[in-house]
Amino acid sequence: MDSLRRNQYLQTIGVDVWVPRRPAADAVPAAQADSDAAALSAGRVLTAEDGGVAARATRATEASDAAARAMLAAEDGGAAAHAGPVPRATTLHSTHSSVAAASPVEGSPTAITWESLRSEVLACTKCTLHASRTQGVFGVGNREAQWLVVGGAPGAEEDRRGEPFVGRAGHLLDAMLKAIGLSRGRNVYIANVLKSRPPGNRDPKPEEVAACLPYLMRQIDLLKPRVMLAVGRIAAQNLLATDVPLGRLRGKVHHFGELNTPLIVTYHPAYLLRTPSDKRKAWEDLKFARSVFQGINPT
Ligand code: URA
Repeated sequence: MDSLRRNQYLQTIGVDVWVPRRPAADAVPAAQADSDAAALSAGRVLTAEDGGVAARATRATEASDAAARAMLAAEDGGAAAHAGPVPRATTLHSTHSSVAAASPVEGSPTAITWESLRSEVLACTKCTLHASRTQGVFGVGNREAQWLVVGGAPGAEEDRRGEPFVGRAGHLLDAMLKAIGLSRGRNVYIANVLKSRPPGNRDPKPEEVAACLPYLMRQIDLLKPRVMLAVGRIAAQNLLATDVPLGRLRGKVHHFGELNTPLIVTYHPAYLLRTPSDKRKAWEDLKFARSVFQGINPT
């Protein structure tokens, strides 16, 4: 059997995650999501160290598992997990001057809307954070991506470089995304709830979130992601308008906005740097998110 057919077969029987594949994310009843989450926490999901069937079955999955091992092993924000910097495609959309913006097609109405939103964000003075920031941090990645990753607020390095998740936590986030076949230069868009850095990386104040969240909503409106991944408490609680602790938001399919976009919650990479023992749970979340996406986009 060639590897493509074997892969299709394995995917059909859901062997890569060892949980039943669901037909469509918005058709997933809460009870099913809960039971999947229970399966995940009960350890029925293959891990890289399990040497699982799927890991042996296809090179793609082997690559993904290698990335998972890198993520699980990363103790220093991912620097040691990578032989070199994470490759970035030239289609990356960033405030960073060295990176070209390429899609949607330059000059198209959608591209113009993205650019005018970015200009608005960079010039924004709606909250007091504009006075202390170096620059606004709009977002990065493919503006036609099916995946949206949302974080809380820029840190010092992001404030300096004008791009989300470029510090130590960002390296780990890249490793986490790579483990499920995603990269900011290719198939994911990354944005924060706040576009300006709160001094000392303190939690955003409610009035700051109120001023800034509409920008994220407009980004979501333009992107129309198929799946959203909220990393950390700030992103998860603000997107879901709840104060339920992050631990109780994990392992479920939430739905966001009018399009009922499936939203999965996981730990913030900065937390994982402080608490590496929870990386395995984050890996479970990522596989859960991947299985939700695969349920929407069967290959
Ligand atoms: N933490 C976040 O939530 N976002 C960033 O961009 C960087 C760190």
